[in-house]
Amino acid sequence: MPVRLISGVILSLFLGLSSRGPQAREIPRFARDDGKGGVEAVVLGIAQDGGVPHLGCRQPLCVEARRDPSKRRLVASLGLIDHAAGRRFLIDATPDFARQVDPLGGLPDAILLTHAHIGHYLGLAQLGREVLNAKRLPVYCTPSMARFLRENGPWKRLVALENIEIREVEPGREFELTPSLHAVGIRVPHRDEDSDTVAYLVTGPRRRLLWLPDIDKWEQWDRKIEDLVREKALLAFVDGTFFSADEIPGRSIAAIPHPLVPETMARFGGKGPAPPAEVYFVHLNHTNRLLRDAAARRELERRGFGIAKEGSRFRL
Ligand SMILES: [Zn+2]
Ligand SMILES: [Zn+2]
Repeated sequence: MPVRLISGVILSLFLGLSSRGPQAREIPRFARDDGKGGVEAVVLGIAQDGGVPHLGCRQPLCVEARRDPSKRRLVASLGLIDHAAGRRFLIDATPDFARQVDPLGGLPDAILLTHAHIGHYLGLAQLGREVLNAKRLPVYCTPSMARFLRENGPWKRLVALENIEIREVEPGREFELTPSLHAVGIRVPHRDEDSDTVAYLVTGPRRRLLWLPDIDKWEQWDRKIEDLVREKALLAFVDGTFFSADEIPGRSIAAIPHPLVPETMARFGGKGPAPPAEVYFVHLNHTNRLLRDAAARRELERRGFGIAKEGSRFRL
């Protein structure tokens, strides 16, 4: 029967195709180019290094997130896209790196690292010959972070095989990503176990952006965050790891210090309204009530602050 023959041919074509394994999915060069050029930042993840669900966690949020992918939260990372220059950048290479390439619109042209805690650089492993076998992908970091990568496996193999090309930049020295996009690393106090830690201040054509996912305490910083957030055009993503000091049962957060979200809001806004800058909390631990408590989120938003959201885009 001709029909059956045709369906057989179609079926064998289909089987022939599928036997070659999954087809490489074409990634659009730019995810949402509005045609006007410009520079965009895109939030690629909002969780602390362990993500949500968190290994070993039996709280309802993590249990639900294991069943329901819509409740999962990727590890904090930010994408920068310069549409006119045709270039993309990633700040922090997280353990979720492979899943963050799609919302970035494709592979990054360079990566900026903040520090050597697992949520912020483990994604580099994807660049080695086991996976991407990248060719001299520029990685911007401080001399201390560069030393860590050059001296320790498996990272030193990425350097030796030229999968990555380390671009050491001293904190405080601005560097150019594209003619419309510049960045500078700013030293922040943090548990500097394997490297020092920087935040990044990124300057686009219209506004500046601060990416500061980890800091021990605001008062230990040699800068005043209150001064930075006075800048109206600033878009700030800041450490929102913990909401309250008792949220990790059986562990003291003195060993893993971070400013608590209410402390940060008080410091930024005093008793009055939020500061002029647009401020979003990022790097939320799986225990942070802002991930599950709608009333706490509403109260934070009422005070003029926000919680970073995966997929949010901002014109820089
Ligand atoms: Zn972290
Ligand atoms: Zn850290």
